Amino acid sequence: MIRRYGLAVVAVVAMACVTTPASGRSQLNFLSVAQEIALGRESDQQIRADMSVYDDAGWQASVTRVGIVMAKQSHHPNPPWSFVVVDASAVNACALPGGFIYVTRGIVPFLQSEAELANVLGHEIAHVTALHGASAYSKQQLTGLGLGVGRILAPEKYGGVFGGLEVAMSLTLLKHGRDADRGADRLGVGYASSSGWCPAGMVGLLSTLGRLSEVLELSRGVPNFLTTHLLPEDRIAAVKDLVTAAQGPGAQTVNAAEFSGRLPGVVWGDSREQGIVRGCEFVHPILRIALRFPDGWEISNGASQVTAQPDGEAQAAVVLRVVPNASGGLAQVARTQMTAAKFTEVSGGETTINGLCAYVGTYRGEQEVVRAAFIAAGSTTSLVAGVAAAQAFGRAQGTFANTIESFRTMPQAEADQIQPFRVGQYTVWSGDTWTSTAASPAPRAVDPATLAIMNGATVASTPLVSVRIRVVIVV
Ligand SMILES: [Zn+2]
Repeated sequence: MIRRYGLAVVAVVAMACVTTPASGRSQLNFLSVAQEIALGRESDQQIRADMSVYDDAGWQASVTRVGIVMAKQSHHPNPPWSFVVVDASAVNACALPGGFIYVTRGIVPFLQSEAELANVLGHEIAHVTALHGASAYSKQQLTGLGLGVGRILAPEKYGGVFGGLEVAMSLTLLKHGRDADRGADRLGVGYASSSGWCPAGMVGLLSTLGRLSEVLELSRGVPNFLTTHLLPEDRIAAVKDLVTAAQGPGAQTVNAAEFSGRLPGVVWGDSREQGIVRGCEFVHPILRIALRFPDGWEISNGASQVTAQPDGEAQAAVVLRVVPNASGGLAQVARTQMTAAKFTEVSGGETTINGLCAYVGTYRGEQEVVRAAFIAAGSTTSLVAGVAAAQAFGRAQGTFANTIESFRTMPQAEADQIQPFRVGQYTVWSGDTWTSTAASPAPRAVDPATLAIMNGATVASTPLVSVRIRVVIVV
């Protein structure tokens, strides 16, 4: 998420080692139920503000519907229970004490049925009813790592790329222990089954997560499922036995076709709110800013900043981020930020970049040299910084200058035209492969392996002719 050259924010999160006692319960749980709910509510507001709620009333409603039915069947049927789809491309779900449960919009296209959704929610509900989260909270208190850690470091206003850092950190801190996850599987399968959904959904879900673990980049923005939950392979065998035991005589809903039919339109990858990478340009249609990164550099749209680096070379990087709480003149903002990041100004001055007021300077750190531009665009101040190891700065200087010069604001009409990738549907023709299907109609939006997994298959298989599959499209 934040690479070596993450400038202003270098947050070191000591991972609280969450070793759940063998009993799996509450040994470190110092919180009363009321405290749990209060803690959950507070963090809920933070998450909603920083990560933002995914703007899709239909999906919010269906996740809530399934979640509430199961919560009522759980060991703590009483409210508050809340189920929210957050606007994050990571594949994850998490729970806060007090019954606040989140799934990312990124996990939705990977679910093969409503039963799989039910089992995700069942697993998270179980983390709440078994007080796993509260226990993690208590440990955070013990180790002095409160949720407020990142608060002062991360910008407050924008979700996605320019916010969410602290949330990402807190979700990571909510990493569950081995026993906690096995326990949550067991309870979750039970909740799904007693609420009328097929418990085998958990097996399908874990298989998908297992396949994804081989292809997904885990470091983007919000941590993925695997960084906060136990590895799926380890859980599948145990879950299979539970499923057999949980399969009762009653009707058990799977709802695969209906569920898939509602997927088209779900945002895939970066959303407008997070800013979108298109070729070598990063565009943010909400902030109406754009930056062209050097040709061929690998761009990563992280939780707190966008970073670009030349392939396979760690000697240089360009980062773009919004400066939080920038007040005073640009010269002062530059001084404050760079001093805080332990850089000394070598030279610098006020200038304009594509008509925008800017302060551009060269700064020296312990081992790196930085060319940094603080640029005022509308109500935000952006930082574009080229960072290089001292001995590599000379070579990188021209590239840094070109990148900084490319920063621009965009007209509303251009911003309106920038649309995210979305899930679409496609009927397979003879000769189609996962590779050919991934190559169009939105090239490079999804790799063939991920596309196959989204369709419950592996990339080595051949998509079945005439079957309707999920694809990624540009609307
Ligand atoms: Zn879990």
